[in-house]
Amino acid sequence: MRAPDAIVVGGGIVGAACARELALAGLAVTLVEAEFVGGGATAAGMGHIVVMDDSPAQFHLTALSRALLDELAPALPDSVEHDRCGTLWVAEDADQLAAARLKASVYAAASVEAGVVDEAGLRRLEPALRQGLAGGLLVPGDGVVYPPALARWLAEDARRHGAELREGEPVAALDGRSVTTARGRLEAGLVVNAAGAAAPLLTAGLPIVPRRGHLVITDRHPGFCRHQVLELGYLASAHASTGASVAFNVQPRVTGQVLIGSSRELVGWDRTPNRSLLGRMLRRAGEFMPALAGLSALRSWIGFRPATPDNLPLIGPWGRAEGLWIAAGHEGLGITTALGTARLLGDLILGRTPSLDPAPFMPDRLAEATAAHA
Ligand SMILES: Cc1cc2nc3c(=O)[nH]c(=O)nc-3n(C[C@H](O)[C@H](O)[C@H](O)COP(=O)(O)OP(=O)(O)OC[C@H]3O[C@@H](n4cnc5c(N)ncnc54)[C@H](O)[C@@H]3O)c2cc1C
Repeated sequence: MRAPDAIVVGGGIVGAACARELALAGLAVTLVEAEFVGGGATAAGMGHIVVMDDSPAQFHLTALSRALLDELAPALPDSVEHDRCGTLWVAEDADQLAAARLKASVYAAASVEAGVVDEAGLRRLEPALRQGLAGGLLVPGDGVVYPPALARWLAEDARRHGAELREGEPVAALDGRSVTTARGRLEAGLVVNAAGAAAPLLTAGLPIVPRRGHLVITDRHPGFCRHQVLELGYLASAHASTGASVAFNVQPRVTGQVLIGSSRELVGWDRTPNRSLLGRMLRRAGEFMPALAGLSALRSWIGFRPATPDNLPLIGPWGRAEGLWIAAGHEGLGITTALGTARLLGDLILGRTPSLDPAPFMPDRLAEATAAHA
């Protein structure tokens, strides 16, 4: 059998999107997944599709990715639950409202629709928010998906375009020309490590660590909230590089359930729930939406975000091994940015003009920091 042009290791949403992008471009692709497609961080994520202005690079990647999802939307099955519900960023005080205005101007400059609302406007949009908040920012083009279903669709679409999908096959070792599994050694023209938070276990030196998060889902209360609603302080939580943090973040599911987040902590791969942090997270949510206390929590779970030191993913060639490419380290934005990541990776692999500046995403950019860390 002919060796594939590319092997993608890891069938999370990022690997599935990369396999599809390369297959669509005509490459013979094999996607190798240890367990099943979309079962890793992808299954644990909230599924918020959000344009984020944390840094110019992140802004461009999230905006490109959201636009690519909008292009794809007509082809997606109902199981993906794509809902363009918009994001409502909540300002608690005048300072945060000023930050919302600044955010609005950044979005406007890039033609991303966003509008500042006052307190009355905020409560009209989301009546369950408490009184006394300062206002907020509505980003109507943002949305929500059901991440494992989107990952599955991307992998199946890759297969429809000729890719081979191998699930239940952990990769024991890889380099730029081959991967080794229990079924033997498989050679390829190039290899993409898209194993999420596990990527450094296969490629030593990748600056990625698991950052744990808890989520809670309620029973069904259709109409309880209509937008993904977050506090503007969310970014401070996302940036906290040490210690545990929580931020108010709720999401309406198409089922009528309310998904409540979010927490962040660095505890390695520990799967023991942190009840005190979970309590803090729910109390924080209740401070913004007191009526949440009347809903029943059906279940909670944890997941591990693949975090990098500068909050940007690693997308591009890994200089230390010829033929080895990296698409990993998407922290809390991998559902949003999978399509943009795949497009940029495809551009670089195929020698197309890059859809955005690749420099901020180059995997080697953090090599010095990693060496200093070691
Ligand atoms: C609580 C929480 C909330 C989140 N909310 C959002 C959100 O609202 N919006 C958003 O955009 N993002 C969100 N995220 C982040 C998002 O889930 C991740 O960034 C994204 O899923 C990463 O995708 P991935 O494909 O890189 O990793 P994964 O989904 O983890 O996929 C990696 C795959 O590699 C496989 N693998 C690992 N090792 C091997 C091996 N040796 N051989 C073969 N396969 C291997 C794994 O089985 C896995 O399937 C959230 C994450 C968490 C934890």
